[in-house]
Amino acid sequence: MLDSFLSAFYEACQKNNLKLTPQRVEVYKELVKFNDHPSVTKIYKRVKQKFPNISFDTVNRTLQLFVEIGVAKLVEGVQDIRRYDGVTKRHNHFHCLKCNKIIDIYDERLDKIEIPKDLYEKLSIIDTKIVFNGLCEKCKK
Ligand SMILES: [Zn+2]
Ligand SMILES: [Zn+2]
Repeated sequence: MLDSFLSAFYEACQKNNLKLTPQRVEVYKELVKFNDHPSVTKIYKRVKQKFPNISFDTVNRTLQLFVEIGVAKLVEGVQDIRRYDGVTKRHNHFHCLKCNKIIDIYDERLDKIEIPKDLYEKLSIIDTKIVFNGLCEKCKK
């Protein structure tokens, strides 16, 4: 799975004239590896193991760059901590209020929900997403 993500990543970098530095590749790998919607801090800690000299700021800026070239998405607000998603394919999220886990939800029925037309007249809507809040299976017990 990681391979297909990586080839899409290389392609996007090429298209956007973004240099493929080993650090950038590592940040991307750590973003998509576990599909756990990591925060900047989490990715920073993982990347630091391989590149001890990398700064938090660099990791932060790299992730923002990834969003700009379309290989990552910013996850909607969870406790004011910015988290990133390496899966850019359309999907919805479930937030566990206890352990802060974000679970991907793929369900066609959710994509069919009709958005009131007048919203589109008033606002310029680029993207829609349904966010569920509650307790995950583990925390429910
Ligand atoms: Zn939980
Ligand atoms: Zn996701």
